[in-house]
Amino acid sequence: MENIYDVIIVGGGPAGLTAGLYASRSKLKTLLLERFLPGGQAALTDFIENYPGFPDGINGVELMQKMEAQAVRFGLQINTDEVTKVGLAPDNLKLVSANDTEYRAKSVIIATGAEPKKLGIPGELEFRGKGISYCATCDGPLFKGKDLAVIGGGDSAVEEGIYLTRFAKSVTLIHRRDQLRATKIIQERAFATPNLRFIWNSVPVEFIGTTAVEGVKIKNVKSNEVSIIPVSGVFIYIGLVPRSEMVKDLVALDESGSIITDTTMATSVPGIFAAGDVRKTILRQVAVAVGDGATAAYSAEKYIQ
Ligand code: NAP
Repeated sequence: MENIYDVIIVGGGPAGLTAGLYASRSKLKTLLLERFLPGGQAALTDFIENYPGFPDGINGVELMQKMEAQAVRFGLQINTDEVTKVGLAPDNLKLVSANDTEYRAKSVIIATGAEPKKLGIPGELEFRGKGISYCATCDGPLFKGKDLAVIGGGDSAVEEGIYLTRFAKSVTLIHRRDQLRATKIIQERAFATPNLRFIWNSVPVEFIGTTAVEGVKIKNVKSNEVSIIPVSGVFIYIGLVPRSEMVKDLVALDESGSIITDTTMATSVPGIFAAGDVRKTILRQVAVAVGDGATAAYSAEKYIQ
């Protein structure tokens, strides 16, 4: 008989792993598909201090390994496979097409998260991995004693900018406005960090260099003045794009590509749910994602019943 799952969860970040924990504890036959390693964006964060239960904060990788171990302990099956499309199949089943195989399930939870937004300026693509990075935790230690720039003014840019000062000689945060978007406590910490400086009202227009990044050309949006900041590395944190490509022709999305759900995490298609950063939400946090994941698994169970 064909292997039909009760629930297939796409994505192994906090939302997906929590959905996996809840679905497995409900004795649903559950498969989580993850293209690389479970953990999602949270595992790329050095230190998480706003996830309840860890008063001294916790390393992102450690938190995600604990979530994975907890879900697996209750029977969650995790396969490494990249999902390319989610569609409908006969008998009310859902078809999950992945690189290695096709899976069928009674319900699907999309928990694919979001990926870093790109600037789309000259040099960004060419110098990726040669000075351009979207992950300070991964690449920061490579820039010991160097001058770096961070682009953006949100929580990620400011937190990761502070983190990078551990390794770098200096970090220059370049923001398009004269006020940060980041949470106040993170801003206070940033302004108190000695080797972190700020360039306001400016946007990058080009990354320059020969074989690797040597500087970033910026334009002041008020005066239109153009200048070059010499740096060996640039970390880009200008927001996130939801990873909803695989369901874009199936479920309703908002104008930014986020999956629209109701409070039960149901999408516009019965039996397909979404949780975490991929869905339209006002707050993208680990705490929100785990709540979404628990709700989505509960709703999937009710749907199957
Ligand atoms: P974000 O909050 O969307 O901030 C993006 C920043 O980049 C903004 O300052 C924005 O400027 C700027 N920006 C956007 N497009 C730009 C462009 N084309 N050129 C130059 N600058 C550009 O993104 P994020 O910081 O990656 O955070 C994503 C989500 O994760 C947020 O909900 C955030 O709160 C959450 N998060 C939370 C934590 C935490 O709780 N500790 C840590 C990391 C992330 P404007 O300000 O002018 O719009």
